[in-house]
Amino acid sequence: MDASATPANVAVETKNDAIARPTREEAEAAVRTLIAWTGDDPTREGLLDTPGRVVRAYEEFYAGYKEDPREILSRTFEEVDGYDDMVMLRDIRLESHCEHHMVPIIGRVHIAYLPVNRVVGISKLARVIEIYARRLQTQETMTAQISNVLEEVLKPAGVAVLVDAAHQCMTTRGIRKPGVFTITSRFTGRFKEDSRLHDRFMQMIRPTPNDM
Ligand SMILES: [Zn+2]
Repeated sequence: MDASATPANVAVETKNDAIARPTREEAEAAVRTLIAWTGDDPTREGLLDTPGRVVRAYEEFYAGYKEDPREILSRTFEEVDGYDDMVMLRDIRLESHCEHHMVPIIGRVHIAYLPVNRVVGISKLARVIEIYARRLQTQETMTAQISNVLEEVLKPAGVAVLVDAAHQCMTTRGIRKPGVFTITSRFTGRFKEDSRLHDRFMQMIRPTPNDM
């Protein structure tokens, strides 16, 4: 499945500033409403501090709205002594939340790019994934966003992104299918045109004896 960017994705990144942010007290009141909706009593002792904890947890889960991946990627290094093969990060832990149910999406991301004269710090690539993951997401949108920002800022000869994740909205509710993994991918430039390069990427994301 090839995820593609839609104008809606772009809107997510710009529209955000225009939305009036509720206060912390309003957010906590909303959690109390949801607790009452479950049928429990938000004033009982065990639940008294829950709204505050939930709001603080949301600050962590959704911290990605405050950061700009473009800025993270903007510092690049040109001294690579002619290095011209792919740079790959395998098995980056993914923790995100689906925008339809606000429950976890847990999985792994593999990314690679083919640098042209300049590279970016490897940890910066992992940060970019974290920024997009810490927003309300669909796996398809996130796959496209990661690929788009690498293309746009690094201007490489190609980008490969593969996301392999389990959606708790599928495993713990609804059709309840634990053990199902959703795979989305996007290949651009030479990863798309050169089947050998594409295959090498797919080979390299397989578990090695070190992982066992
Ligand atoms: Zn969902």
